[in-house]
Amino acid sequence: MSSALTIFLIAALLCIAMLLMLRYFMRSGIAGIREWGYANLLACIAFILYAFGRELPPLIAYEAANVLYAAASAFMLAGFQRFFARPSRKMVLSGTVLAVGLGIAFFHYVRDSFDGRSIVVSLFQAAIALGIGMTVLRAIKVKRRSRYPYHFTMAMALVVALGHLLRVAVHMGQSGDMTSLLQPSPWNLFFVSAGTMALPALTLGGVMMVHDVMLAKAEHAANRDFLTGAWSRRAFFALAEVDLKRARRSHRDVSLLLFDVDHFKAINDSLGHAAGDRVLVDAVARAEGVIRNGDYLGRIGGEEFAVLLPETGIDAALAVAERLRAGLQVRADEGIEFTVSIGVAVLRHEESVADMMRRADAALYRAKIGGRNRVERELA
Ligand code: GH3
Ligand code: MG
Ligand code: MG
Repeated sequence: MSSALTIFLIAALLCIAMLLMLRYFMRSGIAGIREWGYANLLACIAFILYAFGRELPPLIAYEAANVLYAAASAFMLAGFQRFFARPSRKMVLSGTVLAVGLGIAFFHYVRDSFDGRSIVVSLFQAAIALGIGMTVLRAIKVKRRSRYPYHFTMAMALVVALGHLLRVAVHMGQSGDMTSLLQPSPWNLFFVSAGTMALPALTLGGVMMVHDVMLAKAEHAANRDFLTGAWSRRAFFALAEVDLKRARRSHRDVSLLLFDVDHFKAINDSLGHAAGDRVLVDAVARAEGVIRNGDYLGRIGGEEFAVLLPETGIDAALAVAERLRAGLQVRADEGIEFTVSIGVAVLRHEESVADMMRRADAALYRAKIGGRNRVERELA
């Protein structure tokens, strides 16, 4: 068996392994996996056709194998586009795959040239790999749980593109020295072994991205309040504890706001529980618009929320609280009418989140007694 043939067979087996792995991730329902599956299936068939190219009719060994492999790479790109919910130009992709087929046929029937066929295939593969890299690059600006899977995929796409461009250069430089993919020349073996790893490597990148999305969803479900999307009580206390430790180490201030919807029971009673739920969702959305990026908003109880303000002293915290109170005062013409009362506390030496929360709660209580829709600070 020639070494190139062996490499193609190993690559086909690797594609089958990728298919079996993708099958497991299909149940996540995340877009793109199906396309990556088609890509590996087509590539597997193409690699087998390449491997037995000498035994097969030339139409199958050249045109069919190369069109199948081009279609596999096009599906790979389409999978990344679907994963990131970007438009996939199916007509353009299919047209380009067809053009590869025509190019192969030209360098087969009109001017029989292995160099020509290799250049056609590698130009297409380089373009697809660059397309994948660009698709991931555009999407990486969005905040991700981890950047590693995206960087990995981009790096792989870049290596694949550069490899194929190098192959184009090599085939342009030496006319007629190489005559077949199955030839055991050093350049040929290098390109065949590196090229057949491209699809599995990109599939691994895709699977890591899927895994990252699955973890992010699970973390969201575990740490976020289902109704409002604010941090859950447990997650809020955990995050606050970390921040308090950091603040103590660096001798910085941390403030806590506790706010509670006024007469919420009356909203539930007069407009119904669903209307009450809408008020809570609205309150969180409005509060998120007022607080800074590094502040945490948690749902502490039914209609009671806490905001942790890192690196914020009492004066700044009172200003935020006042903005929050004004931002959360909803008039009847803007939706369901409601107001909030707010208690403010600032971290004291060596106390816990719960201690700080108690003082903010006492301040909140005074805001309620004092007439509601107001801000009160802790007593000195
Ligand atoms: P105050 O101005 O003193 O805060 O009065 P209030 O009516 O807002 O306070 P109270 O504690 O008497 O009532 C809170 C109500 O919030 C009672 C509870 O049924 C309701 N509640 C708790 N969780 C939810 C929820 O998820 N959705 C809805 N719609 N209501 C909730
Ligand atoms: Mg209330
Ligand atoms: Mg309450």
